Order: sequence, then C-alpha cells, then structure tokens
Amino acid sequence: MKLEDSIQGNVKGIGEKKSLAFQTLGVETVKDLLFHFPFRYEDTSIKPLQELADGEKVTLKGSLITEASVNYYGRGNRLNFRMLVEGNPIPVNFFNQPYLKNKIKLGGEVLIYGKWDRARSSLTGMKILDEGGEDGFSPIYHTNQSIKQYEWVKFIRQVLDTDVLKDVEETLPEELIQKYRLMARRDAVLNMHFPKDALVYEQALRRMKFEELFLFQMKIQSIRHQEKEFGKGVEMHYDTFVVQAFLENLPFQLTDAQVRVLDEILSDMDSPNHMLRLLQGDVGSGKTIIAMTAMLAAKTAGFQSALMAPTEILALQHFEEVSASLDRIGVNSSILTGNTKEKERKETLIRLKEGELDVLIGTHALIQDDVEYKNLGLVITDEQHRFGVNQRRRLREKGENPDILAMTATPIPRTLAITVFGEMDVSIIDEMPAGRQSVLTKWVKHKQMPTVLEWLQTEIEKGNQAYVISPLIEESEALDLKNATDLFNDLQSFFGVRARVDLLHGKMKGEEKKEVMRSFKEHETDILCSTTVIEVGVNVPNATVMMIVDADRFGLAQLHQLRGRVGRGNKKSYCILIANPKSENGKKRMSIMTETNNGFVLSEKDLELRGTGDVFGTKQSGLPVFHVADIVKDFRMLEVARNEAARIWKMEKWWMRPEFTQLDKELAASVMGNEFD
Ligand code: ADP
Ligand code: MG
Repeated sequence: MKLEDSIQGNVKGIGEKKSLAFQTLGVETVKDLLFHFPFRYEDTSIKPLQELADGEKVTLKGSLITEASVNYYGRGNRLNFRMLVEGNPIPVNFFNQPYLKNKIKLGGEVLIYGKWDRARSSLTGMKILDEGGEDGFSPIYHTNQSIKQYEWVKFIRQVLDTDVLKDVEETLPEELIQKYRLMARRDAVLNMHFPKDALVYEQALRRMKFEELFLFQMKIQSIRHQEKEFGKGVEMHYDTFVVQAFLENLPFQLTDAQVRVLDEILSDMDSPNHMLRLLQGDVGSGKTIIAMTAMLAAKTAGFQSALMAPTEILALQHFEEVSASLDRIGVNSSILTGNTKEKERKETLIRLKEGELDVLIGTHALIQDDVEYKNLGLVITDEQHRFGVNQRRRLREKGENPDILAMTATPIPRTLAITVFGEMDVSIIDEMPAGRQSVLTKWVKHKQMPTVLEWLQTEIEKGNQAYVISPLIEESEALDLKNATDLFNDLQSFFGVRARVDLLHGKMKGEEKKEVMRSFKEHETDILCSTTVIEVGVNVPNATVMMIVDADRFGLAQLHQLRGRVGRGNKKSYCILIANPKSENGKKRMSIMTETNNGFVLSEKDLELRGTGDVFGTKQSGLPVFHVADIVKDFRMLEVARNEAARIWKMEKWWMRPEFTQLDKELAASVMGNEFD
C-alpha cells in the first residue's frame, strides 16, 4: 500500500459507495485517510464504580438483566433497562432514542457511554459503543451519516497495520525538531489516532499544530517574496513642499500616531519597494486624512489614486470629503459606483484614461476590466475590504503594480493580524485626536425605553442629533425592513412634532439614501432611524446619541463600529444599548461594551467569547482554515512559527538545501486554495 493509493480498492471494506461517502469529506487517498485526524477523544476506559464521580462521563460494561422498555410522555420518551456491573444492578436510561430497544437483549453484553449519577447509582446513556468500540481512549472523527465512528477506527487501523507509515516523510528540518522537541512526523500520525495515553497524544498534537502553523507561515513568506520579486513598485517622488503646506493648513494638528503612520506610508511610496500596507486605527482615529494626504502626494508625483469603499454611501461620503479638501488645491476627483449613469461613467472613464483625473473614488467598480487608468500609482481600500492576492494579481496584469494601502477600523487583534494579513506590513494609529471624549455607554432593558426616549428629547432640545438602529435580523432583509419601519413609526408617534425623524434602510435606492443622509447631515432631521446600512464611516459630528435596539443581536465589533458614529465632535456623546439578552454570552457582550471604548480590547474579548469563525466569518475575512491548530489558543506557537519561517526565508535559496527538500515539496503540494481571496 502506498500513501498516494486511492482508498477504494486498496483498503478492505471501502467499495464504490463508501468511497463516495469518504470523498464528500475530502478523503480519497490513503494519505488523506491517515491525515484525517480525530477532533477529540472520549475516555472510554472502564473504571471501578467506586471511583466514578457524580456527573462524570463514563463507560460501563456489563450484562443485560432486563429487556428495555420505553415510556412516552409529552413529546419525549425514555428507554429504561438494567445492566449488571460488578455484581450491582445499574439502572440505565436513554432519552429519545427508542430505536435502541433492539440492541438491548436480555443476557447480552454491552458497553455503554453516559453520564454517571452517583446518588442514584444510575447512568444516563449517551450512546451504546459500537462493536469494535475501544476500551480506552477512543478517537472521535468528523464524519457524515454514511461512515460510522467504528468504521473510521477500523479502516485507519487497517492502514496503520501495513508498513505504509514508513513512507510518511519528515517535513520539518531536524534543527526545528530538536529545538522545539517535536515528535517525529511518523510517530505523530500514529499517535494522533491511537495514543497510548493523554500525554502522548498531547505531544503528537503539538507536533501537528506546529507543522500546520509553520507551513502556513512559510506560505505567507513565499507570497511576500513573490510580491517583492514581481519587482519594483512605482516610485512616487512626491512634492514634500505641497504635502507639508496641505498639512499645515488643516484646522487641526496631526496626532503623533498619525504623523508616524504617514511617514511610513510616504516613505514606502517614495521608495521603489512595492507597498503592501495595512493601516489599522479605531473608528475616529483619523485615517481619512492620512488617505487624502497619500493621494495628494501621489498626484504631485504625477500618479493617479483609487479609493475603494465597501458601500455606495461610504464612497459618496469619501468623495464629498476628498473633493472638499483637495479640489481647491488642484486635485481632480470623481466617483464611480454601480449606480453611476452610463453617460457619466463613460465621461469619467475617458478622463481617467487621459490622465485628467487624479483620484477616483468608488466601490469595487473601480478595478473592473474596462476601467483603465493612465498611471495608477496608489490603491486605497477602506473598511472590510480584504484586497486579495487575486485582485492584486489582476491589477498587475493590467500592467500596473500600484502601491496598496488597506485601511481598517475593525480592530484586528495581533493574533489575527499576523495571520490574516501576514503578508502585509502594518501601521497602527493607536491614539485618538486630542479633546475626543469617550462615549458614555449605558445598557438598559426594553421596559426602560420610554424613559430613554424622554431623555432623548432633552438631547434633541439641546440641538443634538441621534441615530436609532433597528434590530438586526440575520438573513432576512424583509424583516430588517419591517423592524426599521415599525420602529420609525413608533418614534414618530412618540415624538410627534417635538422631533423630526427620518428613515434609512438598505432597500432604498442610491439617490434616496443620499438624500436622507444629506438632510441628516444638514440637520434638517433630528433622529435617523436606520438599519445597519450606516454602519461604517458615516461622519456627522453633531450626532451625540447612538441608540441600538436589541443590541444583543450584534457582535461586539459591530456594536463598536456603530458607537464610533458618535463622539465625533466636541459634545458629550452617548451610546444606549437596549437589550434583554437571553444568553450569558449576550449579557457579557453588553457589559463589556459599557466597560471599554478601546476597540482592540473589545476585539480580543470578542474573540474569546465567540471564537474566530464567528467573529470574522471565515469566508468573508479570508481567514485560513486550520485543522488542528487554533490561532487564538495557539497564538504563542504561531508567533514562534512565524519567526522561524521568516528566518528560514532569509537564508540564501533555502529550498536548495537538502534539509529543506521535503519541506519544499510539502509546501508546493499543500493546497491553500482560495484562502487568500
Ligand atoms: P476614521 O476614518 O479613522 O474613523 P476619520 O478620518 O473619519 O476617522 O476622522 C474622524 C474625524 O476626526 C474627522 O472629522 C476628522 O476631520 C477629524 N480628525 C482627524 N484627525 C484629527 C486630528 N489630528 N485632530 C483633530 N481632529 C481630527
Ligand atoms: Mg474612515
């Protein structure tokens, strides 16, 4: 048997049908089977009854001394029988699994896994261990309906009983194995499935995690090097005098953090190196001005810039801000979105191609095929965009290798920044402009709503404005709309003539949204009732209240984004969370919001509470999928892996060295798929 052999026809018991079932789990070859590791173990070793603790999950072995009977009640049912263990008759019951009755045969031997009730000396069964179920430390595999746990054990045992393990090559260089006392790969594979005890398993797991993280980091390094090798980025020798004058004419002084990141960005632009930089900064930390300055610098060097935003509203807002500041100093800008009229679009494209436009702002429409730049030097992406490897490639294939600056207000904990954005350099604005007040956050229950609205009235009377965000209904735009409309009606009837209320939701046309935003901005309305369409970037400094209904439906990151919409001027601002959370988790999120205004602290907590998948949505964030490692829990190891990978990539042609041959092969074979897009 060889590792590359298909399991069908080579592993006894796997025919065409089984093979298809395995295929759906991505298992086709003997190697796939061996590397499909269990995700947990059940301790199914049999212990003396006396040693069992109350509530402990245990395995009992004994002979059946009664038949099973099933009692039905309400919607449920319970199956009861007794088995003899160490001479004691032990009552066993299973809830809602009446079909197990057939397996309970008087006089038969059974092995049952369940929860021990010490006071009653009884067992609540969880499952009857399959034939072939192991007494000991049993692996549990991710599987589907067609492949039973015992079959995994049977097939993998069968494979391990051949001498195929000898073909499992070591991937890690000896040096790393020694340095970190890692288990050899061959032994690790064996012990991932059938460890003799928990300790050995831990060692095997540590080895496989390290391998996974290390290979991943090597891949990231390789991307970095490709980007560099692709050569030179554009050299933009900008006019420092113009840039300086622009900054001096701002109504405020840049913070130290802003000065630092601007420096990093401008020197990247000036140099022949290709810039690939992530600009992180909490909402309101002043990223936009940095982006504007960079675009101005590009213009003075004779290059065009593109600024991409995730939504049309945001693109529009950027366009207004940019044109307000840059028009009068001779920077020509325009906007392009999916809703741009054909005639305008044509005109814009011509001006762009002829180099008459310096700055183009818009949504993803900016990098579509028919959009041709005269000399694009800088691409800036704002919020939520992960500018993937493929998109970068597409740009380069258009004959441009523009510098790239990705701005994000989603505070990404370091943990994730070095994984998701591992191939990027990172600049962080970790300081708020002076005089910014932190937003006072309060959490109240629904029944206090009338009191809150009375208070809101006093804020409105002071000439302030408010956002009221309607509940988020996941995957139902229709319900979102209904909720927003209901809330809007409630607000209108509550305030009557005392406040001007308006409604904004995702189903509105671009023009309508624009008009609603304009009138709010110009204080023709006092309260903007909205779905989360305003989530990112909207800037209305006179708004002092952010009220979020059913706030527990939102994640921490999103709540923080919403809160960032207020506290933008110099007036005291408030965030009111209205929620009766049902879950512990929901309650925790509400309390955390009232405790901190720091986005980075929040995102770390969010990660702790929800795990990576939920926070970023793997697909959306381009977060890679790890099989054995957990980038939060195994953060330390991830850092070690990153440092080692960086060190190895610095070696002259490391892949030519014999100790790295296998590693290089493994790297080439490891499918990273579209994890980076
Ligand atoms: P971000 O995009 O990071 O959320 P913005 O760039 O929209 O933040 O900035 C928020 C507000 O702060 C804007 O009104 C901007 O003009 C202002 N601002 C930016 N930098 C400073 C500064 N150094 N001092 C005072 N105000 C600033
Ligand atoms: Mg912004």
